[in-house]
Amino acid sequence: MIKKITPVYCLFFVFLGFVIASCDNDKPLFISLEQEIELGRQLDSAILADPAQYPVMSRSQYPEAYSYLENIFEDILSSDAIRYRQEFPWEIKLIRNDSTLNAFATPGGYIYVYTGLIKYLDQEDDLAGVLGHEAAHADLRHSARMIERQYGISVVLSVILGQNAAVLTQIAGGLVGLEFSRDFETEADRQSVEYLADTEYNCAGAGSFFQKLTDEGQSGGVPEFLSTHPNPTNRVENIAEKAQDVGCSTAPLNPPSYQDFKSMLP
Ligand SMILES: [Zn+2]
Repeated sequence: MIKKITPVYCLFFVFLGFVIASCDNDKPLFISLEQEIELGRQLDSAILADPAQYPVMSRSQYPEAYSYLENIFEDILSSDAIRYRQEFPWEIKLIRNDSTLNAFATPGGYIYVYTGLIKYLDQEDDLAGVLGHEAAHADLRHSARMIERQYGISVVLSVILGQNAAVLTQIAGGLVGLEFSRDFETEADRQSVEYLADTEYNCAGAGSFFQKLTDEGQSGGVPEFLSTHPNPTNRVENIAEKAQDVGCSTAPLNPPSYQDFKSMLP
């Protein structure tokens, strides 16, 4: 893990007399959308270049599994609530690691899902919920904000300009363990409901995942989803509350073909 550094821009804002409640939550973002997309593209390349940490499954070797996953993802992306649907490249990739229950997003909408997560889940709705959560981290620009905050603007800009390969590798290596603030997690959970409300899936699908984790007492090896803030029980409640606010269907779609999808994985 890389140690968090004090964001320089927070101090700068205070100096200029801006009133800001918290640098963690009210999120100045200095890099442009184009720069953010370029950063995501470079991180994707760095991930593909590091099969020891990220054994990304090749699409040509597992076309069926990719088609299945992409169909779910495209369904989510068709939601009107996705702000950068047109602008971001939006790619989804499988990482072969059955012991990791995780997924993560880079800036610009590159999403990576571990086989361990897919096999752990019982229902496609739950996976859709988690993918919605990750899509939200990208679409709400959380991933870019966290990276900018952690490394500082000048370093991030040098990475984007291709002048800092060492830090690019470092950022890519830290993505799976990138910690979001409590507010970002809550916001992504709630946004996932908005996205799924436009699909046939149970719009609270992300909540079922946290419920399963709570029921089974899983604790560990899941830095993103089981991070202590907020705790899984609160997240289930928050997601259910949001689903009620939105008035979307929480009846599971639960297509039986999800088991076939699992069998397409190595
Ligand atoms: Zn998250």
